[in-house]
Amino acid sequence: MRSVDLQTNRRRFEELLVARANRRRLLLGGATVVAVSLPGLSTRIIAQDAMGTPVPDLTAPAYGATPSASARFASTPFTLGVASGDPLPDGVVLWTRLAPTPRDGGGMDNIPYEVRWELASDESFASLVQSGTTIASPQLAHSVHVDVTGLQPATEYYYRFMVGGEESPVGRTRTAPAAGAAVDSVRFAFTSCAHYEHGYFAAYRHLAEQRFDLVFNLGDYIYEMGPGDYSVYEGEAPRNFSGAELLDLSLFRNRHALYKTDPDLQAAHASAPWVVTWDDHEVENDYANLTREDPRQQVGFEDLRAAGYQAYYEHMPLRASSMPTGPDMQLYRRIRWGNLAEFQVLDGRQYRSDQPCGEGTYVRCPASVDPNTTMLGPDQERWLLGNLDASTSTWNVLAQQTQMAMLEQGDGDQEQFFQDSWPGYPEARNRILGHVMSRGIQNLTVLTGDIHCHWGIDLLADWRDANSQVLGTEFICSSITAGGAEDPAIFFEEFLGEGRNPSIRFFDPRHSGYSSVEATPERWTTDYWQVEDMRQQDSPVNLINTLITEAGNPGVQQG
Ligand code: FE
Ligand code: CA
Repeated sequence: MRSVDLQTNRRRFEELLVARANRRRLLLGGATVVAVSLPGLSTRIIAQDAMGTPVPDLTAPAYGATPSASARFASTPFTLGVASGDPLPDGVVLWTRLAPTPRDGGGMDNIPYEVRWELASDESFASLVQSGTTIASPQLAHSVHVDVTGLQPATEYYYRFMVGGEESPVGRTRTAPAAGAAVDSVRFAFTSCAHYEHGYFAAYRHLAEQRFDLVFNLGDYIYEMGPGDYSVYEGEAPRNFSGAELLDLSLFRNRHALYKTDPDLQAAHASAPWVVTWDDHEVENDYANLTREDPRQQVGFEDLRAAGYQAYYEHMPLRASSMPTGPDMQLYRRIRWGNLAEFQVLDGRQYRSDQPCGEGTYVRCPASVDPNTTMLGPDQERWLLGNLDASTSTWNVLAQQTQMAMLEQGDGDQEQFFQDSWPGYPEARNRILGHVMSRGIQNLTVLTGDIHCHWGIDLLADWRDANSQVLGTEFICSSITAGGAEDPAIFFEEFLGEGRNPSIRFFDPRHSGYSSVEATPERWTTDYWQVEDMRQQDSPVNLINTLITEAGNPGVQQG
């Protein structure tokens, strides 16, 4: 939880800083950095762990050697399921990772393996469309990212992998419509914030059953904390992290693998192509570019970010164009859906200024109006505004991390703002929304995660004035699981007391759920799904509200 939680849990987060000091010591104590050259790819730096996990012997002939095509496994290496992502009109990325012992390093020999992949037009693979082989290398934790091309637009496919006589589960995927094609509708889900210890992934299970065209993950796909560091229950948590707070590459890998052993998350990945972006917890709470939450502990953070980014790449269905180089990784990108929608997938973490007025919920400070403050960094910001100018799609969608609406939180006489989201970066926010207003960008919709509750908010030209021009519409999904059992009355008082925040059109403070959208050329419909009890794996998931916005008429309407 990023807002009210931070107030109720501030002490807990401060205690976490102590753990961070230990993390820094470990990073300084034994981390080694090695240059790795992958066949056909540029040289990259991989930070190896400080915990004694074997460093791949890069002088051995394994890299240039023939990959093992005759491998045999004592148990299936396909313990983490399959995934697909980033659909194009003629292609999609297929993912899996070989890991017979997923929670403990993977259990693969330190050699490359040849993996066969198959893509068919039917679930039984009677009509094979394409097949091939790819290499699962130890340098990428034996993950594979197959960039399939030459496919038909707007078409459903099924895929699977084989190695050593073992066969993976089958995944379903879908290509995007042809460029500029007239498209009747798109159905997609958006999700964020899955804390493994807070509950089961019933929301992912329900999402999988709906077989969407696309699934967006807007960050906090994992949480990096150690067991019990962010506990929200009086008694026993429903389940526990294995492994410590994430200090190095092997721990990040084990945490991602732990998540991917979850059957409901596997089902969600296998049900549709995903488009992913991260927030902070893929590395560390509230980090900003290369500034840590606690800037006194800077040393070692580049290695930590490199480890977090690499493990993220290894476990996500991303193209090789997102392969990290040390602590840098290209994640922002555009996904187009014919002439119906264009999704600008943003990276609000890697390039942002340090929170100008600190982390937390505070009154404005002078630094907040420094024109140099940025959320996206100058290159991504230019790219975004250029894409919005060039777009000919009906819906202009930002798929991104933190709340864009300016929301005041009441606490005493002065306006307070949550500093880690766009309200903490008013100059950067004004540059985006000012551009939308001055250029007349149509049908801006913003998809947001991060704050663990369901919201529908008008993006107003003057956030204090409900009668000012509506520039766009923001839809925020609740967390898959993250968040505690706070008294909902606190939220209502903070955000809606005394006539505050007239832009909020819908708010439900409950945690655990997700949102889905059906967009047509005339109308956008957002459904809000609520998990009844995230402590139960088989919990019912209920529709609690439906909001719409009409093309040409921005702003939230009750559905
Ligand atoms: Fe979160
Ligand atoms: Ca900071």
